[in-house]
Amino acid sequence: MITYFNNKPRFDTFIEECLKALFAHEEPTGDIEITWMQHLGEDGNFAGLCNGTTEEVEISLATHYSLECGDRIPFCDQELASNIAHELVHARQFIRGEINSTDYYYKGKDYESFEYAETPWEIEAYMMEQVLVDLFWSTEC
Ligand SMILES: [Zn+2]
Repeated sequence: MITYFNNKPRFDTFIEECLKALFAHEEPTGDIEITWMQHLGEDGNFAGLCNGTTEEVEISLATHYSLECGDRIPFCDQELASNIAHELVHARQFIRGEINSTDYYYKGKDYESFEYAETPWEIEAYMMEQVLVDLFWSTEC
């Protein structure tokens, strides 16, 4: 069973629906810990990060993003939902052992020479975040 910790309760139902869909027909075990912070990354322009093993995954999510002028803009809830969904797809990749936090292997193949957006794990995460938001997120920004 997948357990998770998240301290923004308005996203709990969405997270649960996403996890149910992502792990349908699987009986995985794993803990997912979601930490919210104002900013991620040196320039404050990361929306989310995910790291872990097949048993434990840590997701960090930013509530704001930074403009070049330094202004900080809050993500709206729909954007946050997409960012959550994206990182949950990476969580599944870790829990399934498809990716790991030490090298660029995905399902046994080395992707070190690939651009960020062209790696199969990012392609899957960007594609699935849209699907999950369309299916399970109901309020607009
Ligand atoms: Zn990603």
